[in-house]
Amino acid sequence: MHDDINGTYRTNADGETERKCPQCGAWASADHIDNGIGAEQCGPFGCERCGWIEQRPSIETLFQ
Ligand SMILES: [Zn+2]
Repeated sequence: MHDDINGTYRTNADGETERKCPQCGAWASADHIDNGIGAEQCGPFGCERCGWIEQRPSIETLFQ
């Protein structure tokens, strides 16, 4: 999971993690999968308001 520093991250009603867009401050969502316990993020965050996409070194590391 993510460290919630300064309220950057939150969990929405579906148990999915969202993060605050660094460009416009809107909540950016990401693709999630159901891992049997809850929703697990499986993609980068993207902001629908301004089009910002989080850059990640490797999405595959989330599955390890
Ligand atoms: Zn944005």
